[in-house]
Amino acid sequence: MSERPLRVAVVGSGPAGFYAADRALSTDRPVEVDIIERLPTPWGLVRLGVAPDHPKIKAVSKAYEKTATKEGFRFLGNVEIGRDLTHGDLEGLYDAVVYCVGAQTDRRMNIPGEDLPGSWPATEFVAWYNGHPDHEHLDFDLSGERAVVIGMGNVAVDVARMLALTEEEIRPTDTTDEAIDAILGSGIEEIQMLGRRGPAQAAFTPPELKELDELAGADLLIDPAEIVLDENSESFLEDAPATTKRNMELLREFAGAARTDLPRALRLRFLVSPVAILGEERVEAVEVVRNELVADDDGWIRAVPTDETEMIPCRIVFRSVGYLGVPLEGLPFDRKRMILPNEAGRVTAEDGTPLQGVYCAGWIKRGPSGVIGTNKKDATESVDNLLEDADNGLLPACESSSAEVDALLADRGTHVVTYEAWDAIDRHEREQGEPHGRPRVKLATWNDLLEKARSIT
Ligand code: NAP
Repeated sequence: MSERPLRVAVVGSGPAGFYAADRALSTDRPVEVDIIERLPTPWGLVRLGVAPDHPKIKAVSKAYEKTATKEGFRFLGNVEIGRDLTHGDLEGLYDAVVYCVGAQTDRRMNIPGEDLPGSWPATEFVAWYNGHPDHEHLDFDLSGERAVVIGMGNVAVDVARMLALTEEEIRPTDTTDEAIDAILGSGIEEIQMLGRRGPAQAAFTPPELKELDELAGADLLIDPAEIVLDENSESFLEDAPATTKRNMELLREFAGAARTDLPRALRLRFLVSPVAILGEERVEAVEVVRNELVADDDGWIRAVPTDETEMIPCRIVFRSVGYLGVPLEGLPFDRKRMILPNEAGRVTAEDGTPLQGVYCAGWIKRGPSGVIGTNKKDATESVDNLLEDADNGLLPACESSSAEVDALLADRGTHVVTYEAWDAIDRHEREQGEPHGRPRVKLATWNDLLEKARSIT
């Protein structure tokens, strides 16, 4: 009799999910992996988060396509945990579950006016220009002369850069047509990015910073006075990672450049914290306070407000101050770090003991940090621990088969989008893009996606 395959559910089909699936399917033992995904499309942030003008980063999906050809792989799209299946169902249907659900919400700033019309989490804008079917109905008013982007991370850089793209830069991408028209037709002349700490503490990485200086339609403006380092930051920089040192070199190189006749300006500001978003019916301005930096005893450099304030008139604000994980029903949650509590990917109960057969990888494991490739090492660690536990007989006993999963989903009336159905969506999108020199034209509504998926069943 042949060995019963190890049956693994991977929840979430972003980079961490695909790397986890790949690792599980790369062992000598027979393994079946079902990637369970809420959306009808795979690849998570690679499809719906990475900026469309970064096609090389998006091309990492080729590796995920290869994983999908491995024996034992299945994609179950349009299946939501909590709606179609519960964690309890998964425990009965699989030997192990790996949660790779990312960080699903944005960090709040808790300042007055945060929810005024015109004040947006950057995550919504990113999802919208990338054709996320949950965000297609959104309407961004880009008619004002100035947009403010709060934060100094790579997402803030993406948002600022996307707002500044020219027709030549944006047309060949897979940005949705609605977003292309809105960005090209916008009235925005200046984009201000606001960092609460100094240039040595900026969270963006050098290649992303460099791109801001290479925009065809926008001047990068940095006030040299704002990148002068205080004593603490000088000594922080001496022992800082190479990327921080490179950021500083680039900022010093770019600072002081004058405005030319390019249509837009992208202004980087440091040492300013928004204290309120102001407006009667909608955003009219952001009030900021100038900060000083102080070093805590543990060396952390913190922004402390002075009494100097400033008003920045604007019609739209993008808050790009980080993502947060959200609790999952039936599982413990670390509310301090907003992740699944875990030891190297083994999800742990409140008393620190591992929950048998439950694992995690990616942002829900470590928080929203790192680049796409970081998730490979991260997911490998989790799945290697899962396989070790399987070898040591530490997984709960489970006798179910993939047929039982299908039967349960059919019983509950779930229309599963299989990998073949996703393939139909993918082929259609690529065919639509090809005549226009674009990688794809995305189907961006639930209706269009599910209709195309149904066309093969
Ligand atoms: P991030 O790198 O953590 O940056 C968040 C930024 O928000 C920081 O500048 C932070 O400043 C600031 N911030 C937080 N709270 C604030 C507040 N209350 N007021 C003002 N500013 C505040 O997060 P992210 O940009 O969302 O990126 C998430 C991850 O995805 C990162 O690892 C990033 O590198 C990655 N990513 C990579 C790419 C790429 O490789 N091209 C593109 C997009 C995203 P402090 O430092 O002072 O806290």
